Amino acid sequence: MVESFVPRLVNGPFEDPVLYIGFRYKRRAMLFDLGKIDWLGLSEIHKISDVFISHTHIDHFIGFDHLLRCSLNREEDLRIYGPKGIIQNVQGKLAGYTWNLIQGYPLKIVVREIDAGQQTAVRFSAVKKFDSEPVAIGDFSGVLLDEPSFAVETRILDHSISCLGFALKEKNRLNVRRERLEAMELKSGPWLDQLKKMLRERAPETTRLECFTKNGASLNLTLREWRENLILETRGQKIAYVVDCVFSDANIEQILALAREADLFFCEAAFSKEDQARATERYHLTAQQAAELARMAQVKKLIPFHFSLRYEAEPNRLFQEAMEAFSQTPPSRTVGRIP
Ligand SMILES: [Zn+2]
Ligand SMILES: [Zn+2]
Repeated sequence: MVESFVPRLVNGPFEDPVLYIGFRYKRRAMLFDLGKIDWLGLSEIHKISDVFISHTHIDHFIGFDHLLRCSLNREEDLRIYGPKGIIQNVQGKLAGYTWNLIQGYPLKIVVREIDAGQQTAVRFSAVKKFDSEPVAIGDFSGVLLDEPSFAVETRILDHSISCLGFALKEKNRLNVRRERLEAMELKSGPWLDQLKKMLRERAPETTRLECFTKNGASLNLTLREWRENLILETRGQKIAYVVDCVFSDANIEQILALAREADLFFCEAAFSKEDQARATERYHLTAQQAAELARMAQVKKLIPFHFSLRYEAEPNRLFQEAMEAFSQTPPSRTVGRIP
């Protein structure tokens, strides 16, 4: 099956965390975390519409300036989501420069801050020299982005400060069975998009939709009949992203809620199991704990990353620890290198 989202870590496992998720069928991308992004091409940066920041420790946020500089001519909003303090952090970054000649640029940055189950949003516009204006926003539901084909959810994790974990969930895919279309002598066309849209929006199953055969005869069936005769529904892709959090009961519960049965689970594995005390003290996970989370969540593939530099001389050590701890799971589940 061809996947709709193409994820890749921008940097190596010992470098800043940045997960770039490209859309296969659109000129669009999203980022999970914003460490150094100097190696991203301009055309890749221009596709970024949404940036999900786990927390603003410098290795997760230092790429903001580069993104800002490359986005000044952006016509659509650039949306940033983050934990408590993110609005102040963005404001502080913007306040670090002089903007007397910026009013002719179109850029608008909308920042959404999640704090203890509440959310606040502000807009910084180039035309207003990046002064902040409040943006009306509803109650926080755990969902940051909900579009027809996918949603992004978040949970607040404990890293001695708030740190957001994320899950990107593609909604079920609706594919037209071409052989059935042929057998029923139906013409393809915009009506098929309309049918998929009605099914996705869960219109009543008794709603009727008319289309025409190749001979021009009318066929007027209910949504349920169309679905049963013509549509193949398959599970969408799921990608979870978790960094910088301690292995506590509260965090485990939140991480499992995010990562349950994910196809890909990007999880920090900062420390070796031999340094577990140090990991706990620093509110980080060991490779073994990352694997344990992956096993409990029954993910298909674990990508351990965000390794502490103290293991740089043994680049395979944390991969191996994660692999050993994950090996009791069924063979279809794997630990992978950075894609
Ligand atoms: Zn951190
Ligand atoms: Zn970190």
